[in-house]
Amino acid sequence: MRRLVCLFLAVVTLCGCSAAEVPAEQCASGVTYEIFVRSFQDSDGDGVGDLAGVTDRLDYIASLGVSRIWLTPIFPSPSYHKYDVTDYRAVDSSLGTTDDLTALVAACGEKGIGVLLDLPLNHTSREHPWFQAACKALREGTDSPYIAWYVFTQGSGQHPVEGTDWFYEGQFGDHMPDLNLDNPEVRSEIAGILTYWQGLGVKGFRLDAVTSYYTGAAGKCADFLRFVTENVKRTDPNAYVVGEAWADEATILNLYASGIDSLFNFPAADQEGRLLKSALKGSGALAAQTLADWNARVRAASPASQDAPFLTNHDMGRSAGVLRGDLTREKIAASLYLLLPGAPTVYYGEELGMTGSGRDENKRLPMLWSAEDASCQCLPPPDADQAQRLTSGADAQDADEGSLLNHYRALIALRRTLPELADGVMTPVDAGSDAVACWQAESAGKRVLIAVNASAEETVSVTLPEWAGAEQAGSAAGASWDGRAATLPPAGCLALRPASGGAGT
Ligand code: CA
Repeated sequence: MRRLVCLFLAVVTLCGCSAAEVPAEQCASGVTYEIFVRSFQDSDGDGVGDLAGVTDRLDYIASLGVSRIWLTPIFPSPSYHKYDVTDYRAVDSSLGTTDDLTALVAACGEKGIGVLLDLPLNHTSREHPWFQAACKALREGTDSPYIAWYVFTQGSGQHPVEGTDWFYEGQFGDHMPDLNLDNPEVRSEIAGILTYWQGLGVKGFRLDAVTSYYTGAAGKCADFLRFVTENVKRTDPNAYVVGEAWADEATILNLYASGIDSLFNFPAADQEGRLLKSALKGSGALAAQTLADWNARVRAASPASQDAPFLTNHDMGRSAGVLRGDLTREKIAASLYLLLPGAPTVYYGEELGMTGSGRDENKRLPMLWSAEDASCQCLPPPDADQAQRLTSGADAQDADEGSLLNHYRALIALRRTLPELADGVMTPVDAGSDAVACWQAESAGKRVLIAVNASAEETVSVTLPEWAGAEQAGSAAGASWDGRAATLPPAGCLALRPASGGAGT
């Protein structure tokens, strides 16, 4: 099986992935791969992962079948995580140079992978020259246009400007002063930043902390999201913009009114979200119902948008820990979200079952390329206080047909044969088993049926009368179809297409 997967991937690589060249039976997976850059791959021996290191690992990334990589912030910043920026038009020297980025973008382009930059626009670093100029002017009682770039108040406020009676807003702390996004000069600067990176070949952005743009004013946040999205699309209609709204369903749906491509599906993520809960409890049918309901609500709020499901990200305890390191349950979780309509996002190392919880640094531990050979591994982020508990690295899993890594590859390879999953209307299907997540995705008059067994213990057989005679479009983890009934081992998944002109149409 692994040989088949490799052959398939080799063919994909040889063919390239631009729209004109992809054979009809293959399409972009639409899957995004989130990379915490300093923990992925070091290229120059200082132990800090960097952009050239990502380029070095591009064959691995391409072997996953993803369409995009999301790089956590690469701009100059005093912090290790770099979500507080001091220059939006440069690359932090610890991660490389702008030339390294353009080299990565070019190498990705050859493999049909787009690069997304993570853009924190709610706030800058306290050390950003704009903020420094504003504070200097306030201290000296002089004028500066940069005072109006932030949110200063006199007499009282959130964080004091030392040596003055001025205060500034900083929702994420005094080291991250909030920008005044109403200021036309700030908006013009932001538009220029977007154009600058798009001019270097960047294919889109992940927007940080979008619910904080205007504290407590969702409508204004949506207006600003529309401003960013429209600017990005003006330069490149095919660019992709996804926002981080770590919020409840109603808030996220309100933000979809901006027309943004995607907002991460936070309600279904993390240890309390439906995906991991269903993987843990074997409640597949409930997952299909919940996700289909969400898909419909997103579609109603913004017809051209796509849901962006994920298990966990760099701010959450890793899914392997939530699933108690149970390989079968990790495979179930992957099966449940990687074949959903929309644009799923994989957090680096999740495909291996990497661990990490507690303080943020632990959630961002070095990519485990090899458990035997530490020489290819980055240093952990400063202040990480957990070691990696996973004992099987990418090298060992690559060679193991039954590994989590090869399950991810098989699912995403299957996804590449099912274009209906890009923008399909999702309808739950009752397969007669609480364990089985079953749904139909329909797009442009074409339909595909997905069935996933979320039980970690039982093989489940289900009959699907309305799909009798349908053709098996693909499967993973040993699922099979006899034309009438599906046999689904734990984590098994099956994709069916209506027989041409026959049943199920
Ligand atoms: Ca380095």
